[in-house]
Amino acid sequence: MTDLRDSFFSSAPTLKARAPGRIEFIGNHTDYNGGEVLGAAIDRYVTAELALREDQRIRLMSSLSERVVDLSMDAVEPQSGEDSWANYPLGVFTVLRNSGIEFERGFEIYFDSDLPLGAGLSSSAAIELATLEALCAQAGVELERSQRVLLAQKAENDFVGVPCGMLDQAVSCFGNPDQLVHIDCAQVRFASVPMPSGYHFWIFNSQEKHSLVDSLYAERNRECKAALAALQGEYPQWKQLVDASPEVIETLLADQPALRRRAQHVVNEHRRVQECLKALAAGDMDRVGELLYASHDSSRDLFENSTPALDGLVDSLRGQPGVCGARLTGGGFGGAAMALTTAAFKNDHAQAIVDQYRNNRPAAPEPAVIHVQTGEGSGVLLR
Ligand code: ADP
Ligand code: MG
Repeated sequence: MTDLRDSFFSSAPTLKARAPGRIEFIGNHTDYNGGEVLGAAIDRYVTAELALREDQRIRLMSSLSERVVDLSMDAVEPQSGEDSWANYPLGVFTVLRNSGIEFERGFEIYFDSDLPLGAGLSSSAAIELATLEALCAQAGVELERSQRVLLAQKAENDFVGVPCGMLDQAVSCFGNPDQLVHIDCAQVRFASVPMPSGYHFWIFNSQEKHSLVDSLYAERNRECKAALAALQGEYPQWKQLVDASPEVIETLLADQPALRRRAQHVVNEHRRVQECLKALAAGDMDRVGELLYASHDSSRDLFENSTPALDGLVDSLRGQPGVCGARLTGGGFGGAAMALTTAAFKNDHAQAIVDQYRNNRPAAPEPAVIHVQTGEGSGVLLR
């Protein structure tokens, strides 16, 4: 217990909820294009401790900042500058309230986390779901998991203003130890897929993030919509970009090379997810690894959301003993690469990857390495 936390609470917290970060296993930018994705919750979490107040104020604090965000429940506005992190929990509160859940009394929430921010491990979905679990438990409301996902996504879309798909929230909510989460974003269906035993995840956080990451993400989202609109001119039956055929993309978008590459990435990536499911079911981990590398190469060449740092990390991992496959994980434009490994891959091997990377890019920040296992989906820990 930290002093900051203790002095923050006006009364002892009455419940604690948490939500995990996630790995995007495969399925890059497929979610908002109506495609499929495979992700894994990891054993790194955001926790939210909540105390009720006698008045109508909302007070929020994170272990990552010394400032308290304090505002009236009835005048919740997006925050800016140093307090902008609070938009994630405030967005969740606003979305829950707009959905008809009543909050009579104000509350205080203290957040703690062992998840790196902005590394592509989706700390944003974790803080949203930790907040959502705490507020719903406090209000005595039990929502279906799929509803929790859509409400948390809505908070990020509408209040924070990031046009993300549902991948991050779905994996944080539906994750289970030793399972991957399979999401069919068109049908809004979620399923657990067993993760073959004996495999591990290593995250190599490049510690680099494109300064325009949010606007680049939004630009890719717009490009995908523009590609779909152009294809629908001839094929109105295609409702989502993943419905398009690779051959038609090739010809119809020949004069718009950027849109053609974005569409090719999304359509091929969607198919790679389906192939990966089959390979996992067959226990063919060599094939799974090939698909992970192919996904990375497609991000690099077609979707252009990789970076020299992520390419360097994946190239250093390629073909190393114990490494099945590697790729960037998450939206891209910086953040982390992940490797799927056997137990033979140890700390020394991870350090050798970092050393090799640093030899090739001496001016780059030192990547942070995290060894993670699959984790547990969001929920209440203590009442
Ligand atoms: P990612 O989701 O990949 O980590 P994002 O940029 O989507 O990256 O979200 C990161 C943002 O989420 C942080 O900049 C911060 O505003 C917010 N956030 C996440 N976890 C916490 C936390 N524990 N405390 C405060 N803010 C957090
Ligand atoms: Mg995020």
